[in-house]
Amino acid sequence: MPSTDFPLSIAGHLVQTPQRGEVINPATGEVLVDYPMAGRQELETAVQCAKAAFASWSGTPWEVRQAKLVELADLIAARQEQFTRLLTLEQGKASSGAEWEIGGCIHWLREVAQQTLPQSVASEGEQGQVLCRHVPLGVVGAITPWNFPLLLAVWKVAPALLTGNTVVVKPSPYTPLCTLWFGELAQRVLPPGVLNIVAGGNELGQWLTEHPDVSKIAFTGSTATGSRVMQSAAGNLKRVTLELGGNDPAIVLPDVDPKSIAEKLFWASFQNSAQFCVATKRLFIHESIYDEVAEALCEYAAGVKIGNGLEADTQLGPLQNQMQYDKVCDLIEDTHRAGLRFLAGGTVVHGNGYFIPITLVDNPPDDARCVVEEAFGPVLPLLKYRDVEEVIARANNTEYGLAASVWGRDLAQAQAIAQRLEAGTVWINQVHQFSPHIAFGGHKQSGLGIENALEGLAEYTNVQTIMGRPL
Ligand code: NAD
Repeated sequence: MPSTDFPLSIAGHLVQTPQRGEVINPATGEVLVDYPMAGRQELETAVQCAKAAFASWSGTPWEVRQAKLVELADLIAARQEQFTRLLTLEQGKASSGAEWEIGGCIHWLREVAQQTLPQSVASEGEQGQVLCRHVPLGVVGAITPWNFPLLLAVWKVAPALLTGNTVVVKPSPYTPLCTLWFGELAQRVLPPGVLNIVAGGNELGQWLTEHPDVSKIAFTGSTATGSRVMQSAAGNLKRVTLELGGNDPAIVLPDVDPKSIAEKLFWASFQNSAQFCVATKRLFIHESIYDEVAEALCEYAAGVKIGNGLEADTQLGPLQNQMQYDKVCDLIEDTHRAGLRFLAGGTVVHGNGYFIPITLVDNPPDDARCVVEEAFGPVLPLLKYRDVEEVIARANNTEYGLAASVWGRDLAQAQAIAQRLEAGTVWINQVHQFSPHIAFGGHKQSGLGIENALEGLAEYTNVQTIMGRPL
Protein backbone atom coordinates (compact mmCIF):
# COMPACT_ATOMS: atom_id res chain seq x y z
CA MET A 1 0.00 0.00 0.00
CA PRO A 2 1.28 3.50 -0.75
CA SER A 3 1.88 5.72 2.26
CA THR A 4 -1.26 7.80 1.93
CA ASP A 5 -4.57 7.98 3.72
CA PHE A 6 -6.47 8.35 0.42
CA PRO A 7 -7.79 11.89 0.87
CA LEU A 8 -10.38 13.52 -1.33
CA SER A 9 -8.90 16.18 -3.61
CA ILE A 10 -10.97 19.34 -3.49
CA ALA A 11 -9.81 22.74 -4.70
CA GLY A 12 -6.20 21.63 -4.47
CA HIS A 13 -6.62 20.57 -0.83
CA LEU A 14 -6.34 17.03 0.49
CA VAL A 15 -9.47 16.49 2.53
CA GLN A 16 -10.55 13.92 5.12
CA THR A 17 -14.15 13.55 6.29
CA PRO A 18 -15.68 11.86 9.36
CA GLN A 19 -17.94 9.72 7.21
CA ARG A 20 -15.95 6.67 6.09
CA GLY A 21 -16.37 4.06 3.40
CA GLU A 22 -14.65 0.68 3.48
CA VAL A 23 -12.79 -1.06 0.68
CA ILE A 24 -12.96 -4.84 0.92
CA ASN A 25 -10.17 -6.94 -0.56
CA PRO A 26 -12.25 -9.23 -2.80
CA ALA A 27 -9.69 -12.04 -2.59
CA THR A 28 -10.05 -12.32 1.19
CA GLY A 29 -13.33 -10.62 2.09
CA GLU A 30 -11.42 -8.52 4.64
CA VAL A 31 -11.48 -4.76 5.03
CA LEU A 32 -8.44 -3.33 3.30
CA VAL A 33 -8.71 0.28 4.36
CA ASP A 34 -11.29 2.98 4.95
CA TYR A 35 -11.53 6.23 3.04
CA PRO A 36 -13.32 9.59 3.32
CA MET A 37 -16.79 9.83 1.80
CA ALA A 38 -17.85 13.17 0.39
CA GLY A 39 -21.22 14.61 1.37
CA ARG A 40 -23.20 17.39 -0.25
CA GLN A 41 -20.93 20.07 1.22
CA GLU A 42 -17.74 18.54 -0.18
CA LEU A 43 -19.38 18.08 -3.57
CA GLU A 44 -20.58 21.67 -3.56
CA THR A 45 -17.09 22.96 -2.76
CA ALA A 46 -15.57 20.75 -5.45
CA VAL A 47 -18.02 21.94 -8.12
CA GLN A 48 -17.70 25.62 -7.17
CA CYS A 49 -13.90 25.44 -7.16
CA ALA A 50 -13.90 23.60 -10.48
CA LYS A 51 -16.17 26.33 -11.84
CA ALA A 52 -13.86 29.05 -10.52
CA ALA A 53 -10.79 27.31 -11.97
CA PHE A 54 -12.41 27.00 -15.40
CA ALA A 55 -11.74 30.59 -16.53
CA SER A 56 -8.02 30.29 -16.11
CA TRP A 57 -7.65 26.63 -17.18
CA SER A 58 -9.70 27.05 -20.35
CA GLY A 59 -7.51 30.04 -21.24
CA THR A 60 -4.29 28.10 -20.64
CA PRO A 61 -2.55 27.39 -23.95
CA TRP A 62 -3.24 23.97 -25.46
CA GLU A 63 0.49 23.10 -25.39
CA VAL A 64 0.64 23.75 -21.64
CA ARG A 65 -2.34 21.48 -21.03
CA GLN A 66 -0.73 18.82 -23.23
CA ALA A 67 2.41 19.04 -21.09
CA LYS A 68 0.33 18.69 -17.92
CA LEU A 69 -1.12 15.39 -19.17
CA VAL A 70 2.40 14.11 -19.75
CA GLU A 71 3.30 15.15 -16.19
CA LEU A 72 0.27 13.23 -14.90
CA ALA A 73 1.45 10.17 -16.84
CA ASP A 74 4.91 10.56 -15.31
CA LEU A 75 3.44 10.68 -11.80
CA ILE A 76 1.84 7.27 -12.34
CA ALA A 77 4.85 5.86 -14.20
CA ALA A 78 7.14 6.74 -11.28
CA ARG A 79 4.91 4.62 -9.02
CA GLN A 80 3.80 2.00 -11.52
CA GLU A 81 4.44 -1.02 -9.31
CA GLN A 82 2.66 0.51 -6.32
CA PHE A 83 -0.34 1.44 -8.44
CA THR A 84 -0.42 -2.07 -9.91
CA ARG A 85 -0.39 -3.68 -6.49
CA LEU A 86 -2.98 -1.30 -5.10
CA LEU A 87 -5.25 -2.02 -8.06
CA THR A 88 -5.04 -5.76 -7.46
CA LEU A 89 -5.73 -5.25 -3.75
CA GLU A 90 -8.84 -3.15 -4.25
CA GLN A 91 -10.19 -4.65 -7.48
CA GLY A 92 -9.05 -8.26 -7.23
CA LYS A 93 -7.68 -8.64 -10.75
CA ALA A 94 -4.57 -10.69 -11.43
CA SER A 95 -1.29 -8.74 -11.38
CA SER A 96 -0.94 -9.17 -15.15
CA GLY A 97 -4.32 -7.51 -15.63
CA ALA A 98 -3.44 -4.74 -13.19
CA GLU A 99 -0.17 -4.13 -15.07
CA TRP A 100 -2.16 -3.86 -18.29
CA GLU A 101 -4.56 -1.34 -16.76
CA ILE A 102 -1.93 0.87 -15.11
CA GLY A 103 0.25 0.71 -18.23
CA GLY A 104 -2.87 1.73 -20.17
CA CYS A 105 -3.38 4.79 -17.94
CA ILE A 106 0.15 6.01 -18.64
CA HIS A 107 -0.20 5.29 -22.36
CA TRP A 108 -3.57 7.05 -22.60
CA LEU A 109 -2.38 10.20 -20.84
CA ARG A 110 0.69 10.41 -23.08
CA GLU A 111 -1.20 9.68 -26.29
CA VAL A 112 -4.16 11.96 -25.60
CA ALA A 113 -1.56 14.64 -24.89
CA GLN A 114 -0.58 14.42 -28.57
CA GLN A 115 -4.07 15.16 -29.84
CA THR A 116 -5.33 18.50 -31.11
CA LEU A 117 -8.65 19.89 -32.24
CA PRO A 118 -7.56 22.74 -34.50
CA GLN A 119 -10.01 25.38 -35.62
CA SER A 120 -10.83 25.16 -39.29
CA VAL A 121 -12.03 27.48 -41.99
CA ALA A 122 -15.24 25.86 -43.16
CA SER A 123 -15.62 28.17 -46.14
CA GLU A 124 -14.78 31.58 -47.49
CA GLY A 125 -17.79 32.61 -49.51
CA GLU A 126 -20.46 35.24 -49.60
CA GLN A 127 -20.81 35.27 -45.79
CA GLY A 128 -17.10 35.95 -45.51
CA GLN A 129 -14.84 33.62 -43.63
CA VAL A 130 -16.61 30.84 -41.68
CA LEU A 131 -14.47 29.69 -38.77
CA CYS A 132 -15.29 26.54 -36.87
CA ARG A 133 -13.69 26.05 -33.46
CA HIS A 134 -14.11 23.84 -30.41
CA VAL A 135 -14.65 25.49 -27.04
CA PRO A 136 -14.64 23.72 -23.66
CA LEU A 137 -17.88 23.13 -21.80
CA GLY A 138 -17.08 24.05 -18.19
CA VAL A 139 -17.18 21.59 -15.28
CA VAL A 140 -17.23 17.92 -16.29
CA GLY A 141 -18.49 15.25 -13.87
CA ALA A 142 -16.82 11.87 -14.43
CA ILE A 143 -18.46 8.79 -12.88
CA THR A 144 -16.74 5.42 -13.05
CA PRO A 145 -17.43 1.73 -12.28
CA TRP A 146 -15.37 -0.86 -10.41
CA ASN A 147 -14.06 -3.14 -13.17
CA PHE A 148 -11.34 -0.87 -14.64
CA PRO A 149 -11.44 1.92 -12.09
CA LEU A 150 -8.38 4.00 -12.94
CA LEU A 151 -8.27 3.43 -16.69
CA LEU A 152 -11.89 4.45 -17.16
CA ALA A 153 -11.26 7.57 -15.05
CA VAL A 154 -8.25 8.45 -17.22
CA TRP A 155 -10.35 7.93 -20.38
CA LYS A 156 -12.46 10.85 -19.12
CA VAL A 157 -9.98 13.04 -17.26
CA ALA A 158 -7.40 13.21 -20.09
CA PRO A 159 -9.67 14.49 -22.88
CA ALA A 160 -11.65 16.72 -20.50
CA LEU A 161 -8.53 18.48 -19.21
CA LEU A 162 -6.86 18.70 -22.61
CA THR A 163 -9.86 20.49 -24.10
CA GLY A 164 -9.86 23.03 -21.25
CA ASN A 165 -12.55 21.73 -18.93
CA THR A 166 -12.20 21.30 -15.19
CA VAL A 167 -13.26 17.99 -13.67
CA VAL A 168 -14.94 16.41 -10.65
CA VAL A 169 -14.43 12.63 -10.58
CA LYS A 170 -16.61 10.26 -8.57
CA PRO A 171 -15.15 6.73 -8.49
CA SER A 172 -17.13 3.63 -7.59
CA PRO A 173 -17.51 3.22 -3.81
CA TYR A 174 -16.09 -0.31 -4.25
CA THR A 175 -12.81 0.80 -5.88
CA PRO A 176 -11.93 4.40 -5.04
CA LEU A 177 -8.31 3.95 -3.94
CA CYS A 178 -6.26 4.21 -7.14
CA THR A 179 -8.36 7.18 -8.27
CA LEU A 180 -8.00 8.95 -4.92
CA TRP A 181 -4.24 8.43 -4.96
CA PHE A 182 -4.01 9.63 -8.56
CA GLY A 183 -5.98 12.75 -7.58
CA GLU A 184 -3.71 13.40 -4.62
CA LEU A 185 -0.60 13.19 -6.81
CA ALA A 186 -2.20 15.30 -9.53
CA GLN A 187 -2.51 18.25 -7.15
CA ARG A 188 1.29 18.58 -7.36
CA VAL A 189 1.15 19.52 -11.03
CA LEU A 190 -2.32 20.99 -11.68
CA PRO A 191 -3.66 24.35 -10.52
CA PRO A 192 -6.15 24.13 -7.60
CA GLY A 193 -9.68 23.14 -8.58
CA VAL A 194 -8.79 21.79 -12.04
CA LEU A 195 -9.08 18.13 -11.01
CA ASN A 196 -11.17 17.21 -7.97
CA ILE A 197 -11.84 13.68 -6.72
CA VAL A 198 -14.82 13.04 -4.46
CA ALA A 199 -15.46 9.49 -3.32
CA GLY A 200 -18.87 8.37 -2.19
CA GLY A 201 -21.94 6.29 -2.79
CA ASN A 202 -24.52 6.26 -5.52
CA GLU A 203 -26.32 9.30 -4.09
CA LEU A 204 -23.16 11.36 -4.59
CA GLY A 205 -23.24 10.37 -8.25
CA GLN A 206 -26.82 11.47 -8.48
CA TRP A 207 -26.10 14.87 -6.88
CA LEU A 208 -23.29 15.38 -9.38
CA THR A 209 -25.53 14.55 -12.34
CA GLU A 210 -28.22 16.95 -11.07
CA HIS A 211 -25.88 19.83 -10.28
CA PRO A 212 -26.76 22.97 -12.27
CA ASP A 213 -23.11 24.10 -12.47
CA VAL A 214 -21.94 20.88 -14.10
CA SER A 215 -21.98 21.06 -17.90
CA LYS A 216 -21.32 17.45 -18.84
CA ILE A 217 -21.41 13.99 -17.35
CA ALA A 218 -19.05 11.34 -18.67
CA PHE A 219 -20.36 8.08 -17.25
CA THR A 220 -19.35 4.43 -17.44
CA GLY A 221 -21.55 1.89 -15.70
CA SER A 222 -24.71 -0.12 -16.10
CA THR A 223 -27.51 0.65 -18.53
CA ALA A 224 -30.01 1.07 -15.68
CA THR A 225 -27.86 3.74 -14.01
CA GLY A 226 -27.04 5.34 -17.36
CA SER A 227 -30.72 5.89 -17.94
CA ARG A 228 -31.06 7.59 -14.53
CA VAL A 229 -28.02 9.74 -15.30
CA MET A 230 -29.65 10.92 -18.52
CA GLN A 231 -32.82 11.86 -16.65
CA SER A 232 -31.03 13.86 -13.95
CA ALA A 233 -28.78 15.51 -16.52
CA ALA A 234 -31.80 16.86 -18.38
CA GLY A 235 -32.37 19.69 -15.85
CA ASN A 236 -29.75 21.98 -17.39
CA LEU A 237 -29.31 20.10 -20.69
CA LYS A 238 -25.97 18.63 -19.69
CA ARG A 239 -24.01 16.91 -22.39
CA VAL A 240 -23.70 13.21 -21.60
CA THR A 241 -21.42 10.44 -22.73
CA LEU A 242 -22.70 7.08 -21.55
CA GLU A 243 -20.67 3.88 -21.83
CA LEU A 244 -23.01 1.19 -20.60
CA GLY A 245 -23.61 -2.54 -20.46
CA GLY A 246 -23.25 -5.14 -23.18
CA ASN A 247 -24.15 -8.69 -24.11
CA ASP A 248 -21.54 -9.17 -26.78
CA PRO A 249 -21.91 -12.03 -29.25
CA ALA A 250 -18.96 -13.88 -30.77
CA ILE A 251 -19.69 -15.82 -33.97
CA VAL A 252 -17.40 -18.76 -34.69
CA LEU A 253 -17.57 -19.80 -38.34
CA PRO A 254 -17.20 -23.45 -39.37
CA ASP A 255 -13.76 -23.09 -40.97
CA VAL A 256 -11.76 -22.35 -37.78
CA ASP A 257 -9.47 -24.83 -36.11
CA PRO A 258 -11.21 -25.58 -32.77
CA LYS A 259 -8.06 -26.39 -30.86
CA SER A 260 -6.02 -23.39 -31.86
CA ILE A 261 -8.88 -20.94 -31.37
CA ALA A 262 -9.96 -22.09 -27.91
CA GLU A 263 -7.43 -19.99 -25.99
CA LYS A 264 -8.42 -16.80 -27.82
CA LEU A 265 -12.13 -17.46 -27.33
CA PHE A 266 -11.53 -18.19 -23.67
CA TRP A 267 -9.83 -14.87 -22.97
CA ALA A 268 -12.37 -13.00 -25.10
CA SER A 269 -14.89 -14.06 -22.52
CA PHE A 270 -13.09 -14.47 -19.20
CA GLN A 271 -10.51 -11.67 -19.11
CA ASN A 272 -10.82 -9.76 -15.78
CA SER A 273 -13.01 -12.64 -14.55
CA ALA A 274 -15.54 -11.60 -17.21
CA GLN A 275 -16.14 -8.27 -15.45
CA PHE A 276 -15.62 -6.55 -18.74
CA CYS A 277 -18.23 -4.54 -20.60
CA VAL A 278 -16.91 -5.98 -23.87
CA ALA A 279 -16.44 -9.58 -22.72
CA THR A 280 -17.90 -12.16 -25.09
CA LYS A 281 -21.12 -12.98 -23.29
CA ARG A 282 -22.78 -15.21 -25.91
CA LEU A 283 -20.57 -17.61 -27.85
CA PHE A 284 -22.25 -18.77 -31.08
CA ILE A 285 -20.47 -21.83 -32.54
CA HIS A 286 -21.37 -23.48 -35.84
CA GLU A 287 -22.99 -26.86 -35.23
CA SER A 288 -20.39 -28.70 -37.34
CA ILE A 289 -17.60 -27.82 -34.88
CA TYR A 290 -19.62 -27.15 -31.71
CA ASP A 291 -18.53 -30.28 -29.84
CA GLU A 292 -14.87 -29.85 -30.71
CA VAL A 293 -14.78 -26.16 -29.74
CA ALA A 294 -16.66 -26.89 -26.50
CA GLU A 295 -14.21 -29.66 -25.64
CA ALA A 296 -11.17 -27.51 -26.42
CA LEU A 297 -12.58 -24.69 -24.29
CA CYS A 298 -13.17 -27.01 -21.34
CA GLU A 299 -9.67 -28.37 -21.68
CA TYR A 300 -8.16 -24.89 -21.72
CA ALA A 301 -10.34 -23.66 -18.86
CA ALA A 302 -9.25 -26.58 -16.67
CA GLY A 303 -5.66 -25.30 -16.77
CA VAL A 304 -6.43 -21.68 -15.83
CA LYS A 305 -5.37 -20.68 -12.33
CA ILE A 306 -7.96 -18.74 -10.32
CA GLY A 307 -6.78 -17.19 -7.08
CA ASN A 308 -5.56 -14.16 -5.19
CA GLY A 309 -4.39 -11.72 -7.84
CA LEU A 310 -1.20 -11.00 -5.89
CA GLU A 311 0.04 -14.57 -6.37
CA ALA A 312 2.39 -14.74 -9.33
CA ASP A 313 0.73 -17.61 -11.19
CA THR A 314 -2.86 -16.35 -10.80
CA GLN A 315 -4.57 -15.73 -14.12
CA LEU A 316 -8.06 -14.85 -12.91
CA GLY A 317 -9.00 -13.19 -9.64
CA PRO A 318 -12.28 -13.12 -7.73
CA LEU A 319 -15.33 -11.05 -8.55
CA GLN A 320 -14.96 -7.55 -7.23
CA ASN A 321 -17.75 -7.31 -4.66
CA GLN A 322 -20.41 -9.17 -2.74
CA MET A 323 -23.25 -7.65 -4.76
CA GLN A 324 -21.83 -8.94 -8.05
CA TYR A 325 -20.91 -12.28 -6.47
CA ASP A 326 -24.50 -12.76 -5.26
CA LYS A 327 -25.84 -11.79 -8.68
CA VAL A 328 -23.69 -14.32 -10.50
CA CYS A 329 -24.43 -17.06 -7.91
CA ASP A 330 -28.13 -16.41 -8.48
CA LEU A 331 -27.66 -16.71 -12.25
CA ILE A 332 -25.91 -20.06 -11.81
CA GLU A 333 -28.70 -21.29 -9.50
CA ASP A 334 -31.28 -20.21 -12.05
CA THR A 335 -29.40 -22.14 -14.74
CA HIS A 336 -29.54 -25.24 -12.51
CA ARG A 337 -33.26 -24.70 -11.84
CA ALA A 338 -33.90 -24.44 -15.58
CA GLY A 339 -32.38 -27.94 -15.96
CA LEU A 340 -29.59 -26.76 -18.25
CA ARG A 341 -26.35 -28.67 -18.65
CA PHE A 342 -22.98 -27.38 -17.47
CA LEU A 343 -19.85 -28.26 -19.43
CA ALA A 344 -17.62 -26.72 -16.77
CA GLY A 345 -18.09 -25.10 -13.36
CA GLY A 346 -21.60 -24.48 -12.06
CA THR A 347 -20.77 -25.17 -8.43
CA VAL A 348 -19.73 -22.30 -6.21
CA VAL A 349 -17.85 -23.14 -3.04
CA HIS A 350 -18.51 -20.26 -0.65
CA GLY A 351 -15.34 -19.18 1.10
CA ASN A 352 -13.63 -15.98 2.15
CA GLY A 353 -13.13 -14.33 -1.21
CA TYR A 354 -15.65 -13.76 -4.01
CA PHE A 355 -14.47 -16.65 -6.17
CA ILE A 356 -16.64 -18.19 -8.89
CA PRO A 357 -15.42 -21.06 -11.08
CA ILE A 358 -15.29 -20.75 -14.86
CA THR A 359 -18.74 -21.86 -15.90
CA LEU A 360 -19.71 -23.00 -19.40
CA VAL A 361 -23.37 -23.72 -20.18
CA ASP A 362 -24.21 -26.20 -22.94
CA ASN A 363 -26.44 -24.73 -25.64
CA PRO A 364 -29.16 -23.13 -23.48
CA PRO A 365 -32.24 -21.70 -25.22
CA ASP A 366 -31.95 -18.08 -26.34
CA ASP A 367 -34.46 -16.98 -23.71
CA ALA A 368 -32.56 -18.49 -20.76
CA ARG A 369 -31.48 -15.90 -18.22
CA CYS A 370 -27.82 -16.82 -18.71
CA VAL A 371 -28.18 -15.81 -22.37
CA VAL A 372 -30.38 -12.73 -22.05
CA GLU A 373 -28.72 -11.08 -19.04
CA GLU A 374 -25.31 -9.49 -18.81
CA ALA A 375 -23.67 -11.86 -16.30
CA PHE A 376 -20.63 -9.66 -15.65
CA GLY A 377 -19.03 -12.75 -14.19
CA PRO A 378 -17.53 -16.03 -15.44
CA VAL A 379 -20.68 -17.68 -16.81
CA LEU A 380 -20.67 -18.22 -20.57
CA PRO A 381 -23.43 -19.81 -22.67
CA LEU A 382 -22.20 -21.80 -25.69
CA LEU A 383 -24.83 -21.57 -28.41
CA LYS A 384 -25.16 -23.83 -31.45
CA TYR A 385 -26.18 -22.32 -34.81
CA ARG A 386 -26.81 -23.71 -38.26
CA ASP A 387 -26.57 -20.88 -40.80
CA VAL A 388 -25.29 -17.36 -41.10
CA GLU A 389 -28.65 -15.60 -41.48
CA GLU A 390 -29.91 -17.32 -38.36
CA VAL A 391 -26.86 -16.43 -36.26
CA ILE A 392 -26.85 -12.78 -37.31
CA ALA A 393 -30.50 -12.47 -36.29
CA ARG A 394 -29.85 -14.18 -32.96
CA ALA A 395 -26.71 -12.13 -32.27
CA ASN A 396 -28.65 -8.91 -32.88
CA ASN A 397 -31.59 -10.04 -30.78
CA THR A 398 -30.62 -8.02 -27.70
CA GLU A 399 -31.24 -4.56 -26.32
CA TYR A 400 -27.47 -4.11 -26.13
CA GLY A 401 -25.06 -3.14 -28.92
CA LEU A 402 -21.64 -2.62 -27.38
CA ALA A 403 -19.21 -4.89 -29.25
CA ALA A 404 -19.09 -8.23 -31.08
CA SER A 405 -16.56 -10.49 -32.74
CA VAL A 406 -16.42 -12.80 -35.75
CA TRP A 407 -13.96 -15.67 -36.02
CA GLY A 408 -13.18 -17.35 -39.35
CA ARG A 409 -10.55 -17.85 -42.05
CA ASP A 410 -12.41 -16.03 -44.81
CA LEU A 411 -11.84 -12.35 -44.02
CA ALA A 412 -14.30 -11.10 -46.64
CA GLN A 413 -17.05 -13.29 -45.20
CA ALA A 414 -16.20 -12.19 -41.66
CA GLN A 415 -16.29 -8.53 -42.73
CA ALA A 416 -19.64 -9.00 -44.43
CA ILE A 417 -21.06 -10.48 -41.22
CA ALA A 418 -19.42 -7.76 -39.11
CA GLN A 419 -21.20 -5.08 -41.13
CA ARG A 420 -24.56 -6.58 -40.27
CA LEU A 421 -23.98 -6.75 -36.52
CA GLU A 422 -25.63 -4.06 -34.40
CA ALA A 423 -22.64 -3.11 -32.28
CA GLY A 424 -20.34 -0.12 -31.84
CA THR A 425 -17.19 -2.19 -32.30
CA VAL A 426 -16.81 -5.47 -34.19
CA TRP A 427 -13.49 -7.29 -33.96
CA ILE A 428 -12.45 -9.97 -36.46
CA ASN A 429 -10.26 -12.82 -35.16
CA GLN A 430 -9.29 -10.67 -32.17
CA VAL A 431 -10.93 -8.80 -29.30
CA HIS A 432 -10.36 -5.98 -26.85
CA GLN A 433 -8.15 -3.88 -29.07
CA PHE A 434 -8.49 -0.34 -27.74
CA SER A 435 -6.53 2.79 -28.50
CA PRO A 436 -6.68 6.47 -27.57
CA HIS A 437 -7.01 7.01 -31.32
CA ILE A 438 -9.84 4.54 -32.05
CA ALA A 439 -13.44 5.58 -31.41
CA PHE A 440 -15.32 3.45 -28.89
CA GLY A 441 -19.04 3.71 -28.14
CA GLY A 442 -22.13 1.57 -27.78
CA HIS A 443 -25.16 1.28 -30.05
CA LYS A 444 -28.72 0.71 -28.82
CA GLN A 445 -28.87 0.58 -25.01
CA SER A 446 -25.13 0.15 -24.65
CA GLY A 447 -24.53 3.86 -24.67
CA LEU A 448 -24.57 7.27 -26.13
CA GLY A 449 -21.61 9.08 -27.61
CA ILE A 450 -18.00 8.17 -28.10
CA GLU A 451 -14.89 7.85 -25.98
CA ASN A 452 -11.38 8.05 -27.45
CA ALA A 453 -10.25 9.32 -30.87
CA LEU A 454 -10.92 12.88 -32.04
CA GLU A 455 -14.67 12.16 -31.97
CA GLY A 456 -14.34 11.43 -28.25
CA LEU A 457 -12.21 14.51 -27.65
CA ALA A 458 -14.74 16.70 -29.44
CA GLU A 459 -17.45 15.48 -27.03
CA TYR A 460 -15.80 17.59 -24.34
CA THR A 461 -16.43 20.72 -26.41
CA ASN A 462 -19.11 22.80 -28.01
CA VAL A 463 -18.66 23.75 -31.62
CA GLN A 464 -18.55 27.48 -32.13
CA THR A 465 -18.99 28.98 -35.58
CA ILE A 466 -17.71 32.49 -36.18
CA MET A 467 -18.40 34.11 -39.51
CA GLY A 468 -18.00 37.60 -40.82
CA ARG A 469 -16.50 39.94 -43.39
CA PRO A 470 -15.18 43.46 -43.52
CA LEU A 471 -17.81 46.21 -43.49
P1 NAD B 1 -23.20 1.07 -11.79
O1 NAD B 1 -24.04 1.68 -12.86
O2 NAD B 1 -23.85 0.42 -10.65
O3 NAD B 1 -22.25 2.19 -11.14
C1 NAD B 1 -21.36 2.99 -11.92
C2 NAD B 1 -21.08 4.28 -11.17
O4 NAD B 1 -22.29 5.03 -11.10
C3 NAD B 1 -20.62 4.10 -9.73
O5 NAD B 1 -19.63 5.08 -9.45
C4 NAD B 1 -21.89 4.37 -8.92
O6 NAD B 1 -21.63 4.82 -7.61
C5 NAD B 1 -22.53 5.47 -9.76
N1 NAD B 1 -23.98 5.60 -9.60
C6 NAD B 1 -24.88 4.69 -9.15
N2 NAD B 1 -26.14 5.20 -9.17
C7 NAD B 1 -26.04 6.45 -9.67
C8 NAD B 1 -26.97 7.48 -9.99
N3 NAD B 1 -28.28 7.33 -9.78
N4 NAD B 1 -26.51 8.62 -10.54
C9 NAD B 1 -25.20 8.79 -10.79
N5 NAD B 1 -24.25 7.86 -10.50
C10 NAD B 1 -24.66 6.71 -9.96
O7 NAD B 1 -22.20 0.11 -12.57
P2 NAD B 1 -21.10 -0.88 -11.95
O8 NAD B 1 -21.82 -2.01 -11.30
O9 NAD B 1 -20.12 -0.08 -11.15
O10 NAD B 1 -20.35 -1.39 -13.26
C11 NAD B 1 -20.78 -2.48 -14.01
C12 NAD B 1 -21.51 -2.05 -15.26
O11 NAD B 1 -20.70 -1.13 -15.99
C13 NAD B 1 -21.79 -3.18 -16.21
O12 NAD B 1 -23.10 -3.09 -16.72
C14 NAD B 1 -20.80 -2.97 -17.34
O13 NAD B 1 -21.16 -3.53 -18.57
C15 NAD B 1 -20.70 -1.49 -17.37
N6 NAD B 1 -19.45 -1.06 -17.98
C16 NAD B 1 -19.50 -0.49 -19.21
C17 NAD B 1 -18.33 -0.11 -19.85
C18 NAD B 1 -18.35 0.54 -21.21
O14 NAD B 1 -17.36 1.12 -21.60
N7 NAD B 1 -19.43 0.45 -21.94
C19 NAD B 1 -17.11 -0.30 -19.21
C20 NAD B 1 -17.09 -0.89 -17.95
C21 NAD B 1 -18.28 -1.26 -17.34
